[in-house]
Amino acid sequence: MKTAAVWFRRDLRLQDHTALSNAMKWAEKNDARLLLFFQMNPHFLSDSIDKRHQYFFQTLYLFMKECESKNIAFHLLSGETDKVFTSLIDNLPEIEMFFFNEDETGYGKKRDEVVMKLIQDKNRKVYTFQDHFLHGAQEVKKQNGEFYKVFTPYYRAWRQLDKSRPLQINLKALAERARRFEKLTADGNRELEVIAGDFEKREDIGEADALKTLKSFTSERLEDYHKKRDLPAVNGTSKLSRHLKTGAISPRTVYHYVSQIEVVQDSGKETFVKELAWRDFYNMVYVQFPNSAVEEADERYHKINWSRNNERLKAWCDGKTGYPIVDAGMRQLNAEGWMHNRLRMITASFLTKDYLLDWRLGEEYFAKKLVDYEPASNIGGWQWAASVGTDAVPYFRVFNPVTQSKRFDPDGEFIRKYVPELKDVDARFIHEPWKMNNDQQKQANCRVGEDYPEPTVEHSEQRKKAIEMFKGL
Ligand code: FAD
Repeated sequence: MKTAAVWFRRDLRLQDHTALSNAMKWAEKNDARLLLFFQMNPHFLSDSIDKRHQYFFQTLYLFMKECESKNIAFHLLSGETDKVFTSLIDNLPEIEMFFFNEDETGYGKKRDEVVMKLIQDKNRKVYTFQDHFLHGAQEVKKQNGEFYKVFTPYYRAWRQLDKSRPLQINLKALAERARRFEKLTADGNRELEVIAGDFEKREDIGEADALKTLKSFTSERLEDYHKKRDLPAVNGTSKLSRHLKTGAISPRTVYHYVSQIEVVQDSGKETFVKELAWRDFYNMVYVQFPNSAVEEADERYHKINWSRNNERLKAWCDGKTGYPIVDAGMRQLNAEGWMHNRLRMITASFLTKDYLLDWRLGEEYFAKKLVDYEPASNIGGWQWAASVGTDAVPYFRVFNPVTQSKRFDPDGEFIRKYVPELKDVDARFIHEPWKMNNDQQKQANCRVGEDYPEPTVEHSEQRKKAIEMFKGL
């Protein structure tokens, strides 16, 4: 019987899935069957698995359970990429073609190129689709065919383009086409079960939760999004990034759902859509600068002599810099695997402009901890904060952690939640606890230098050094 295989990767959902939808169309037209699978690289199954991989594999586990409950056969194939594909084609010569959603950047792009060659060398067809972004990198270009470097003109062009509609997939029809292939040993299942089973049970995973999150955000918070999205103590953002990362929801579904919502004031909606465009923008920048994981996009800054001081790096990672808003952000990241956007900007600025540490160290730490880790957005965000990207904050505009704290967490509510040593500190001192005298420290149950660190650097001095460092080039 005619057969096609659909390779799932970071698109763990059954609805609005471009490769799956196209495979279904082909299968129905040709009365063919489908093999759905995920290839599990054994090197991810180590003891030292980090938060983002944990989250991803738990989503995968839940996704497989979801398929099972709908009688949709799904296969987990364990092994190195080339071995899995070779043995798949050798064992099941009836597979005529492969469908998958492409990666435009990084490791995924390189892996896809190897796999496509392997499939074609074995005389099978392969169809790939742009699915992860509202607009792939090649879709938004200047009239002269060049890529944009700056967000505002990019966004103007992006806004004008038609956005593909979500694709409905008939799951009953899919269950009939997606068969179990007995020849394939389900050798990854047990390993995955062990990892997924060991995770603390969490509710913020999977396709159903992604849809629920989208609906509650649009009904409760979308209209005021522009006013509240910068306040870390307020639940003002969508929290959809983790689901966009695993592909539990598609950006098309998010965009079109938000677009059809009736609101009195458009500002919240407009601001939110603009954030979705940032996601596409950073993907395009990464396509344009494929080395940007290790190299500044702005080549004037390749020669910056960044520090790699371990002690400072540790203080930053542990949330012990002595600047409460920075510490609260880092502790949120360590505890939850997610950090509010305003704090990502503040902590990234602090690492690079106050500690003068290499932005790559910060990028790497975020990569390990964030459940929503997207290389393009993370690298883009870090290069923006370090002033070395294509559309970066100018190097002389350095975030002041105290001013930022007073502005975006005025009563210190967020700081008190994540830095309990400061919970009794009066609002007058919560942003600068070192200004308390002895009596005030006693009253606040917080000895600065003992219970909570003294500021590890002096901001105004470090700011001058950072500016000099850039000017010197
Ligand atoms: P919302 O405010 O509800 O935004 C909606 C969606 O828009 C997000 O889910 C995300 O997909 C997209 N988005 C919002 N802001 C940005 C942005 N600045 N850049 C790109 N996309 C954006 N985002 C990631 O998804 N993964 C990362 O690894 C990541 N690393 C970052 C590192 C730094 C240093 C900075 C400054 C930002 C980073 N961001 C990253 C962007 C942003 O902080 C998160 O997308 C956002 O905090 C996620 O929360 P949310 O879903 O509630 O966002």
